Amino acid sequence: MELYEYQAKELFRKFSIHVPAGTLHENAEDIYSSHHLAGNRLVVKAQVHTGGRGKAGGVKIVNSIAEAFTSAGEILSMTIRGLPVRKVLVEEALSFSRELYLAITLDRDRACDLVMLSAQGGMDIEEIAGNSPASVIKIDIHPHLGLQEYQIRELIHSLSLDASDRMELAAVIRKLYRFYNETDATLAEINPLVLCKGTFVAADAKVVIDDNSLYRHPEFRSLRDINEDDPLEREAHHRGLAYVRLDGDIGIIGNGAGLVMATLDIISQEGGRPANFLDIGGGAKADVVRKSLEVVLQDPDVKGILVNVFGGITRCDEVARGIIDAMEQLEVKIPLVIKLCGTGEDEGREMLRGAGIVPVAEIVEGARRIIGLVRN
Ligand code: GDP
Ligand code: MN
Repeated sequence: MELYEYQAKELFRKFSIHVPAGTLHENAEDIYSSHHLAGNRLVVKAQVHTGGRGKAGGVKIVNSIAEAFTSAGEILSMTIRGLPVRKVLVEEALSFSRELYLAITLDRDRACDLVMLSAQGGMDIEEIAGNSPASVIKIDIHPHLGLQEYQIRELIHSLSLDASDRMELAAVIRKLYRFYNETDATLAEINPLVLCKGTFVAADAKVVIDDNSLYRHPEFRSLRDINEDDPLEREAHHRGLAYVRLDGDIGIIGNGAGLVMATLDIISQEGGRPANFLDIGGGAKADVVRKSLEVVLQDPDVKGILVNVFGGITRCDEVARGIIDAMEQLEVKIPLVIKLCGTGEDEGREMLRGAGIVPVAEIVEGARRIIGLVRN
């Protein structure tokens, strides 16, 4: 679960990581209520689940409340990387001489957490990290030992800073690491981390919490923004289906997570692109199959559907009945390829043939067929 900047900053405050004073607004008029913010230089920031807001015009530094009002109006009407801006954060602008990059994240390839620090933070960090990787220092965190003091010293000594600023930075790294662990984050990124009059302040905050840990964080439940969830996923979950939307054009329905994932792999291997993961589970009845088809058919990107069912406790004839029901009730204009085997396969295939659908006997053949049909 990704947090908004304002949510992440609220949590940072609880961990004594300095953040600028600020207020959150859903409409520009409310900005006038934030004139208790000291000084006139303010920064108005779009709250969306994506980086690169600065470059997209979603971060504006202004010199008065009136200008903040105008900028907020503009930003609230923006769409950044496909995401409509619904909220803006208005903060006291910071004056700083240096922008650092500091992040802790889970490195899945190396199977450990990782601290990253760079003296060249700011909006170009991706480019800098790409062109001169040496300018980003990375330190692996041992999964049992945790982040060690000597590693923190190694990190801070890589930057040219005054001794007192180094001590300050070490403290921020310790706090961010505590934050990362205690919130079960998989990413805690501060970019830029700025030095303001001897204090490091998080000018930005990007945090992702591990969804698998949410059961032990009831305090985070209210942070989820259902507006940001995919509407089809929301609908599917509402109907009790295990559905994940992907970005391809071939809808996939199967039973059992392993079989469905293997089906996605086969589609990819054969050169196709799956549009979703959908597991109808064990023992699914016809109505579950019909509901699944309904959901997959609602995805405008789907140009064809591959059904892959292994009948164990699930009966192939039930699945066939669900498919036929769906075909009768819905207007299905796209090709469907179906593979059924196991319990009730003969009855199931017979029913499909009766309805004019030719089942395939083998899944690679099925994958090739649906890919060919979608391409044509
Ligand atoms: P991002 O582009 O989505 O990462 O948004 P950021 O919050 O990082 O803002 C983009 C850039 O705006 C930062 O890299 C800073 O250079 C600048 N910026 C953000 N907040 C302030 C501020 O309070 N004062 C000043 N002077 N610049 C800021
Ligand atoms: Mn940033």
